[in-house]
Amino acid sequence: MTELLLVKYAEIHLKGLNRPYFQKLLLKRIKETVRPFALNVEFFDSRIFIRGVQDIEAVIERVRKVFGVHAVCAAVEMNKADFGAICTAAAGMMTGLAGTFKVRARRADKRYFIDSPEINTRIGAVILEKNPALVVDVHQPEHVINVEIRDQALLYTREVPGVGGLPSGSSGKAMLMLSGGIDSPVAGYMIAKRGVVLNAVHFFSFPYTGELAREKVLSLARALSEYCGVIKTYIVSFTKLQEAIHVHCPPEYSTLVMRRLMVRITDFLAEREKATALITGESIGQVASQTMEALAVTDRMASRPVFRPLIGFDKIEIIRLAEKIGTYETSSLPYEDCCTVFTPRHPVTRPKLSKVLEAEAAIPELDAMVAVAVETAELLYIGPDKEEDALSGETA
Ligand code: ATP
Ligand code: MG
Repeated sequence: MTELLLVKYAEIHLKGLNRPYFQKLLLKRIKETVRPFALNVEFFDSRIFIRGVQDIEAVIERVRKVFGVHAVCAAVEMNKADFGAICTAAAGMMTGLAGTFKVRARRADKRYFIDSPEINTRIGAVILEKNPALVVDVHQPEHVINVEIRDQALLYTREVPGVGGLPSGSSGKAMLMLSGGIDSPVAGYMIAKRGVVLNAVHFFSFPYTGELAREKVLSLARALSEYCGVIKTYIVSFTKLQEAIHVHCPPEYSTLVMRRLMVRITDFLAEREKATALITGESIGQVASQTMEALAVTDRMASRPVFRPLIGFDKIEIIRLAEKIGTYETSSLPYEDCCTVFTPRHPVTRPKLSKVLEAEAAIPELDAMVAVAVETAELLYIGPDKEEDALSGETA
């Protein structure tokens, strides 16, 4: 009897002919995520098996977070030929439990000598005999023991839900505009969950924003990378542009010009990265730069779609999601973001495009400054294991 983890995958089941492609990506991601544990990971018969696990809890916690994983089960595997031993093992796994239970058999090997209902009945009988504190309830059982008959017999009672979604890399690539706030990491999570590889772009205004603000953004990228793998992260020096905006643009337009320049630079980086879309954490009406009119004016700077998965969410809903995915605490650390440093008192909420263009035209050498910002962007590879950052470039 060997202990192992059995990984069930999520939506990949719905895929047709290209299912192997999704399976391969998921397998690659799971191998990546358990790399520090040096385990044997293999795909077989529509399940992924992880063998040689010592620290079960730590490995489950990592694997359940991989996009594409439906559930992680802590199982034992046995020779399916010895049905008596399977019954005994099943009864052993139910020792000490009381209340209702059911056996859920799945006979993937259709040549097995008895069918699923028969497996349920026979194992159920042995469990009842060995543990009188249990009664069968097939509709709403408190305890379920799963028995899968495949190449071998797999028994498990514990099934930890995974995060679902599609494996990273199955849906192309997008540039996440990652601030230090609550919203953008959640937005990145939602798009990455659909199989999109994230590259992050952060605008940094040293010395107005300091080293701690930068570290905060990198921790957020690291938290996201637990779900989707290494995130190629650009840190764009934004100081000169922000100072120029501050000096040359009417204050009520400065936030909008700043947002447009961020989008413009991110769009250039998207071109370089062959990314298909941009992602932001905006939602309608959250702040002045997120009215529909302001968003429309900002969008004109992008030559590809700007995804805003939080567009219809209230702040409270976003916070709940941030807590769930584990970014809220870091996002709430009180370091200044470059947006807050230069925030005007009365930003326009219904901007006119002509006025925005006029404000931008007043900035000398704007195109050259944008080009320098793109060219001098610092590039980092951020993965779940800090020490691996420098090594992980090829997987981004
Ligand atoms: P968040 O909570 O994500 O920081 P916010 O409430 O601060 O958002 P804004 O400052 O208007 O809202 O920013 C809107 C979006 O623009 C952010 O969700 C993010 O995608 C992007 N953004 C803002 N500041 C930066 C930055 N310094 N670097 C990269 N992207 C940014
Ligand atoms: Mg926000």
